Amino acid sequence: MDATDARRELAVIAKQVAGCHDCALYKGTTSPVPGEGSAEAEIMFIGEGPGFYEDKQGRPFVGASGKFLDELLTSIRLDRRKVFITNIVKHRPPNNRDPQPDEIAACKKYLDAQMATIAPKVIVTLGRHSMQRYFPGEAISKVHGQPRRKDGVVVVPMYHPAAALHQQTLRKVIEADFAKLPDFLAKLRGDPPERVHVPEQLRRESAAPGSPVPDRAAAQMRAPAPDRPGAVARTDGAAQSSEPDAQQMRLL
Ligand code: URA
Repeated sequence: MDATDARRELAVIAKQVAGCHDCALYKGTTSPVPGEGSAEAEIMFIGEGPGFYEDKQGRPFVGASGKFLDELLTSIRLDRRKVFITNIVKHRPPNNRDPQPDEIAACKKYLDAQMATIAPKVIVTLGRHSMQRYFPGEAISKVHGQPRRKDGVVVVPMYHPAAALHQQTLRKVIEADFAKLPDFLAKLRGDPPERVHVPEQLRRESAAPGSPVPDRAAAQMRAPAPDRPGAVARTDGAAQSSEPDAQQMRLL
């Protein structure tokens, strides 16, 4: 499906969500919140359900946890407009209660259709409820940040930004999990490994006439690409494992 068709399809799904009465959630809401972002997104984020501000604006993650999500995206240089952000239920549960299994089941067809339309490379689940779709019965404390292939797509479960907002330790955890996303994506895209960063001091050393280590920096730039996923180049050109990521990357 090309981008124009995908955009059209997403608009059709949004319209269906707006008219959906398949569970009781629509009652008492102001706006449906189908999701937003790029029809060509490589990453799709799936939260739990719209909250107060999302219901008012008809947009996902625009309240406090949305601000934090924006910060996390910025930290890995991801433009919010280039990803797709949605929820497992598209209408706000009363008083922000957890979405119920029958509501999640009734809304599944819309999430399925969005995923089929966008065909992202990576799905990030935010919070327990969206994680359950892929890893039923598993504990988020055990599996967060670890990519796994599920139904032909790589799924990375993460803590919900709202949980991380109020707990400093979880905040560090979600920040670290986000920091892994660019590598996961690069690996799935088949991008060449990142060029080795050569510190300024080393550059100057190697450029200096009569340098005792001629062209050390250039040699470093040519250092053989690490042949193991998750490995990083060392100054001596050997490969060094960055476990546990190395193990995780093998799954991609
Ligand atoms: N929390 C969610 O899970 N989704 C939103 O859209 C906003 C807050």
